[in-house]
Amino acid sequence: MKFWRKYHPDIDAADPRYKQVSLIYSILLIMIAYFGIIGTLNITLFDAPEIAFFDYLGLTLAVSILWFVNKGGNFKVASWAVIIAIATILLAFVHLAEGRNYSLMWVTILPPFAFFLLGRRDGSWVSAIILGYCSWYMYQLINQQVTANLSLGALFNFIEVATAQVFLFRFYENSRQEAYDQLQKTAITDPLTKVFNRLHLDNTLSAVISQANRANQPVSVLLLDVDHFKDVNDKYGHLIGDKVLIKLCDVLRDTIRETDSLGRWGGEEFLVICPNTNQQQAMQLGQRIIENVRAEAIENNIHITVSIGTATYTNNGTDTIDQLLLSADENLYRAKHGGRDQVLGMP
Ligand code: GH3
Ligand code: MG
Ligand code: MG
Repeated sequence: MKFWRKYHPDIDAADPRYKQVSLIYSILLIMIAYFGIIGTLNITLFDAPEIAFFDYLGLTLAVSILWFVNKGGNFKVASWAVIIAIATILLAFVHLAEGRNYSLMWVTILPPFAFFLLGRRDGSWVSAIILGYCSWYMYQLINQQVTANLSLGALFNFIEVATAQVFLFRFYENSRQEAYDQLQKTAITDPLTKVFNRLHLDNTLSAVISQANRANQPVSVLLLDVDHFKDVNDKYGHLIGDKVLIKLCDVLRDTIRETDSLGRWGGEEFLVICPNTNQQQAMQLGQRIIENVRAEAIENNIHITVSIGTATYTNNGTDTIDQLLLSADENLYRAKHGGRDQVLGMP
């Protein structure tokens, strides 16, 4: 368990910010230890108080950012603060060393941090500006012949490595982001029908209900079950049955609103979550679904119908999510026993 979790209990390993927060804390702790030790050594051993001043400046900066993130400060702001702190320290170091002894090498540690903490766009231009500035500074040093070990050849090498770094990290960050988006999508999608899976429906419903409580709006759900689907499988086989479910989802997607969420509740049951929708509107949507399925959900000449139970949540202090789903299930049960191919809601 990471020590910082006690300051941010809401960020678990599944959270996309987890690694970034981890990195922010690691950088800050390393900075604090490094500047504390080197600063003290510069005063006691090396008699270099002017360099110790920068060390303690870095230490103060790192402690301040740490305090800010522990207080629950915005991680985007913290990421920028960390990058600005690293860039300032690297530039101060480059200036103090005046390009001697390959000191410019240190600047090349900036791009990986910048890309990882700021993302590809901001990471690109921050890296380009700092590396560009260092190339320009190095060129000035060569012109002024400050040190013997700087040459135009060394400058070109630095520029080549810097350019390659920006492009490589950009490419790497792009593929990382794409892989992450793909994984994210797979994690919430039902593989057969490509609608949301049960897990995502649960999360969506909680989020929609919280939002509805804040806005004082009703939320409706429609629980939908294919009628006599076992017969379809028995008569045409499971593969054709699968195709029927895919076709059904196409029809459902075209029927619901953009703000509604559609997912597979299990087997041949589906749930539609409708934010800001009252019982009457839910019944209308249910009726539209019934009609569209009847007319359009036709695969391999197989016609199907669905039964639907609806229920509505209102922010009255007594309704709960479990109760909402239970009511929808009871109404679905009544719709089935009342002859199927119909939608039933709360009395
Ligand atoms: P009812 O009208 O009462 O809902 O009857 P039903 O036949 O639809 O209900 P039942 O629960 O008896 O059968 C559901 C069937 O759905 C049984 C199961 O094999 C089938 N099924 C569930 N998931 C899938 C799937 O992913 N693909 C296919 N082809 N069939 C599935
Ligand atoms: Mg069923
Ligand atoms: Mg069924």
